[in-house]
Amino acid sequence: QRAEWAKLRSEPSVTADGHHVELAANIGTPNDVAGVIDNGGEAVGLYRTEFLYMGRDKLPTEKEQFNAYKAVLEKMEGKPVVVRTLDIGGDKELPYLDLPKEMNPFLGFRAVRLCLEQQDLFRTQLRALLRASVYGNLRIMFPMIATLDEFREAKAILLEEKAKLIEEQIPVSDSIQLGIMVEIPSTAVMADQFAKEVDFFSIGTNDLIQYTMAADRMNERVSYLYQPYNPAILRLVQMVIDAAHKEGKWTGMCGEMAGDATAIPLLIGLGLDEFSMSASSILPARSQISKLSLAEMKKLAAEALQQRTAADVVALVKRATEDQV
Ligand code: PEP
Ligand code: MG
Repeated sequence: QRAEWAKLRSEPSVTADGHHVELAANIGTPNDVAGVIDNGGEAVGLYRTEFLYMGRDKLPTEKEQFNAYKAVLEKMEGKPVVVRTLDIGGDKELPYLDLPKEMNPFLGFRAVRLCLEQQDLFRTQLRALLRASVYGNLRIMFPMIATLDEFREAKAILLEEKAKLIEEQIPVSDSIQLGIMVEIPSTAVMADQFAKEVDFFSIGTNDLIQYTMAADRMNERVSYLYQPYNPAILRLVQMVIDAAHKEGKWTGMCGEMAGDATAIPLLIGLGLDEFSMSASSILPARSQISKLSLAEMKKLAAEALQQRTAADVVALVKRATEDQV
């Protein structure tokens, strides 16, 4: 099996009936890029920038950030790199920001909420990203977007920083795609409206599942409710993908679900364009996808959306793909 996977390293990701998708990797630091290339990743679908901010006692400077973003873009040699702006809060704390303790950190002051209030921090990151943009194919996405107002405000700040750099005669790319993570149910439900204003969606199932099922992703006692295959989750995923396609935009997924062998047939059938996963899952996923037919997976996904429980969905997928997985 390993030999078969190795052969797929520089192959495109395509179903048995010729439908192309993109297989990308999640990374946390520039050092992770080597593994992406080794495993035949076609893009970085999620660069979690939190690690730049963690394990230290003050904010990273614009220069430090610029160097990290530039390194990733250069190493990817023109392949897309989706960088997520700071997603701190929830389970990831930054002691030096001195934020008050909250009753429900996952429902609290985190990610873009914090960035829109502590704008100095946000603007520094955006400047570093914009300056790095000329070294590769940069895409920027905002985490934890719950309303269009948040997206518009974050985008306006980005455009302000871009204008300032141009004024300072610092080169900035003119083709940076700007997207959002869909990880809050309100945003999934409103995806048809968001799709008119964003360039792409990336579905963050780790959080989308926790918020849809109201089950803390860190809490063992409610982990039985953490159900990626619940038809409610599949229906939200479908809404997001369909809304994007209606506006000619693309949808990726960067939560754990994107690399899951049981989910992949369903996600192919639902029309997901980009799958972002840990690098080590890319070749197994490419191999699995090469044996699936889009036409059949579309039927499978349609049936899955009509199931009653997560267990019913799993049983359905197992039956339909028995000879492949
Ligand atoms: C997600 O929520 O699915 C996601 C990819 O982001 P994180 O796991 O960093 O919250
Ligand atoms: Mg998340």
